[in-house]
Amino acid sequence: MTSDRRPPQGQDPENLEAASPFELRVDRGRNVPESEVRTALATGDLGFIHSFTTGSMLDGPGVRIVAWLAGCQFRCLYCHNPDTWNMTNGTPVTIQRAKEQLKKYRAGLRVMKGGLTISGGEPLMQHKFVVKLFTAAKSMGVHTALDTNGSLGARLTGEDLNQVDLVLLDIKSWNPERHQKVVGASIDPVLDFARRLAAARKPMWLRYVLVPSLTDDFDDIAHIAEFCAGLGNVSRVDVLPFHQMGGFKWKQLGIAYELENVEPPTRETVDKACQIFREHGLKAY
Ligand code: SF4
Repeated sequence: MTSDRRPPQGQDPENLEAASPFELRVDRGRNVPESEVRTALATGDLGFIHSFTTGSMLDGPGVRIVAWLAGCQFRCLYCHNPDTWNMTNGTPVTIQRAKEQLKKYRAGLRVMKGGLTISGGEPLMQHKFVVKLFTAAKSMGVHTALDTNGSLGARLTGEDLNQVDLVLLDIKSWNPERHQKVVGASIDPVLDFARRLAAARKPMWLRYVLVPSLTDDFDDIAHIAEFCAGLGNVSRVDVLPFHQMGGFKWKQLGIAYELENVEPPTRETVDKACQIFREHGLKAY
């Protein structure tokens, strides 16, 4: 997520492709009746999608399409997409339409050794839709990656996991109190999911957001590095420097934003965090 482009005016509600991952999108599914939302969640025949972007080289191997799903149960203090928190901010899209969209790109994705990444929000809020779309992608020969905070990993069966080639797992903090403070939820289900992925030998990349004065405790990072190195399935670590590109969304949504005056971490701090992961034998970028 490197673009700092701002949302265009006069958005077309049918246009799912975002000019940047930082487009503000709200209320696109507000007219869907509650009963249909429940049916959608139970069947996976309808998904609520914030947007999709093409040509990403940051969200898994190769060049990728990323589908950003709406809905998240975390409330990370540093979230740069708070408009993805509510599912009904997303555009309702049938699984059939999503498959047809993917089909248009499959040949290119294979040539570019990329694939489909489903992110959010938290994609496993809509796990049935995710599994259906990944199953379709696999049948097209498209690589699949799930970008998740991991807390709802127990929703996936073993068979569901077979449709996922790679998991990009966020671990937000090691310290349980700090984790609770940063995201408003417990770390335990996240670590349980990581252990399950390791037991299943499912390839995993770790993503760690580095926020000055919040998640830049080097002891905390060392514990995460030790944990991930011990799993045996973590092939890459991405240290993601905090930025303010989504800060405007908090203001526009009227949500109190505690990190308004926080600067991005220095290059030295990012390098030090990467170094800690490398000292534990992990490839960190
Ligand atoms: S898990 Fe991701 S989408 Fe959800 S609040 Fe945290 S940063 Fe935002």
